[in-house]
Amino acid sequence: MFSIKKIYQPITLAEALEIYTSNPQLKIIAGGTDVLISLHHGKLDDVELLSIKNLTELTGINYLTDGTIEIGTMTTFTEIFRNEIINKYIPILAEASVSMGGPQIRNNATIGGNICNGAVSADSAPTLFVLNADLRIVNNEGVRIVPITEFYAGPGKVKLQSGEILTHIIIKKADYKGMYGKYIKFSNRKAMDIAMLSVATLGKVKNNKFTDLRIALGVSAPTPIRCTKAESFAFNKTIKEELIKQISEKTLLNANPRHSWRGSKVYREHLIQVLTERALKEIITMSGGKWHE
Ligand SMILES: Cc1cc2nc3c(=O)[nH]c(=O)nc-3n(C[C@H](O)[C@H](O)[C@H](O)COP(=O)(O)OP(=O)(O)OC[C@H]3O[C@@H](n4cnc5c(N)ncnc54)[C@H](O)[C@@H]3O)c2cc1C
Repeated sequence: MFSIKKIYQPITLAEALEIYTSNPQLKIIAGGTDVLISLHHGKLDDVELLSIKNLTELTGINYLTDGTIEIGTMTTFTEIFRNEIINKYIPILAEASVSMGGPQIRNNATIGGNICNGAVSADSAPTLFVLNADLRIVNNEGVRIVPITEFYAGPGKVKLQSGEILTHIIIKKADYKGMYGKYIKFSNRKAMDIAMLSVATLGKVKNNKFTDLRIALGVSAPTPIRCTKAESFAFNKTIKEELIKQISEKTLLNANPRHSWRGSKVYREHLIQVLTERALKEIITMSGGKWHE
């Protein structure tokens, strides 16, 4: 059924890197929920796979002494949304994780695969964008750290070089402490459907002003994006209904959604504003702020 020529199944990261460096044509397979669909559609005939499923170095979620949270890229979405550290410190990531796929998919799909697949609809992306997540990428020669906001190169494309494996997602304490977040996924069906549009907001409110606000969108441009113009407009302004409307309108200055069978450009532009407004109101309420007199 699947046209697989060979599969390597190393048990350590060092071994995997060694094999990958000598065989750069290999296709990495993690949970396989994207790779197996590509195989099924005949896009990867006679493929040689490098399975990273047995690499225990890439699993689990750790809370470091300085409050940094490190997520191994082989961690599944089920593990993420059930994890105590995630629910305590970055519940917005649990919210995004439980919104993806259905139970069978979430049990296999990894957060690393979600990022590396490069889909603009990836449910982890907007949340990791607002959390300013860093990616730890290794090859046989060393390690590099890349902000996730610089990792996407276009639809289905990410900036991974030959021989590289994404090992961890790193979220620093300063990027979640005192912040409240909300992820909203909008899709044609309530379950087992990818996003037609998605919004993540993360903010800090003091004296009813945004002292930090981050807004990210999925399926609103060729890659997930941050709405930097709306974010800087919001900074230190007193929160009111009118301000929320203005911020939501300004998200369109960074967005450029496309027309597709899932939703028209005009409808997506409407959704961007409505969902941003809704998500902002949620985080203002959580932060103890108010937008009405
Ligand atoms: C029925 C169904 C429903 C789905 N619903 C959703 C949904 O609601 N939301 C959503 O976002 N996605 C959805 N998906 C897509 C898919 O499940 C996710 O993108 C998933 O997170 C991919 O993870 P994986 O571990 O299965 O990746 P794989 O399929 O194993 O790999 C995906 C890609 O990433 C590369 N890769 C994987 N791990 C690494 C690594 N550590 N380093 C370098 N490269 C790597 C692979 O080579 C491949 O190109 C759905 C898929 C199916 C089949």
